[in-house]
Amino acid sequence: MSINVKSVSKIYKTQKALNNVSFAAEKGQIVGFLGPNGAGKSTIMKILTGFIKPTDGEVFVNEIDVKQFPLEVQKIIGYLPEHNPLYTDMYVKEYLQFQASVHKIDKSEVNICIEKVGLTAEAHKKINQLSKGYQQRVGLAAAILHNPEILILDEPTTGLDPNQLVEIRALIKELGKNKTVLFSSHIMQEVEAVCDRVIIIKKGEILIDKKLAELTQTKEQIIEVTFDYKIEEQFISRLQNVVSYKNNYDNTWYITFESEQDMRPIIFDFAQENGLKILSLNKQNKNLETFFREITND
Ligand code: ADP
Repeated sequence: MSINVKSVSKIYKTQKALNNVSFAAEKGQIVGFLGPNGAGKSTIMKILTGFIKPTDGEVFVNEIDVKQFPLEVQKIIGYLPEHNPLYTDMYVKEYLQFQASVHKIDKSEVNICIEKVGLTAEAHKKINQLSKGYQQRVGLAAAILHNPEILILDEPTTGLDPNQLVEIRALIKELGKNKTVLFSSHIMQEVEAVCDRVIIIKKGEILIDKKLAELTQTKEQIIEVTFDYKIEEQFISRLQNVVSYKNNYDNTWYITFESEQDMRPIIFDFAQENGLKILSLNKQNKNLETFFREITND
């Protein structure tokens, strides 16, 4: 296992940020870390990279105990923190050459890396002259410079424009072929496009740890229906193939069905039989976004 997190908890003074978190990841896997703000994603990443210590539990990276040997671990990990710390007064190339000397890497690697992350045209500029997206690329270049086996990327695509997003996602995917990549994101489509596996975390606990294919291959569909009149729960529960239902606003229901058949005509007949009028009726197939909303919404 290249990453092995065992029963990790973290308490910051009085704030419990992680509660008994365990997961493992192997080489060649891209694991997406999803969760609302404050869920504990950055905390796990900081613990994995040895920048902070867990209150409880153990973390191994390539079988090395991170608590005991954080510097050894940092040699095999590339880390892009959420608040990308850059020396903004330095030139792009100068900064990456400085990073190369820290890692004792040949400076020729810098040019290769600059090209890989698409920074060639900006390499002569000062970091503070770059847009947020390009600054993010500098951080990514610094993280992969020493060709680490493991990449930990905390919201690497924040602030990128749509074209840059596509490029950086493709790069992450390429890097994931022979590395272990753990990255956090708020963008479900991104996780769907890039990851093999998804870990959803909320209030410091892992709610879901599954292969993406397992999560999205389902016959479930969600129907959002608004009636002109408030109806009671027992009417909804009597519908066939209902898995769950929620009534967020007075007359609007979100009903999850397990069925290959489109359930909208059945809802339509149901409304007619009960003398109700439908004001709107929408069907969503279950995807990562609907799944995420369902399990992280209180
Ligand atoms: P995420 O990355 O999912 O947004 P974090 O790991 O940053 O979540 O934070 C998890 C929880 O721990 C939050 O409640 C946050 O306020 C708290 N937290 C994070 N860092 C500190 C800190 N240095 N001191 C106190 N509380 C912290």
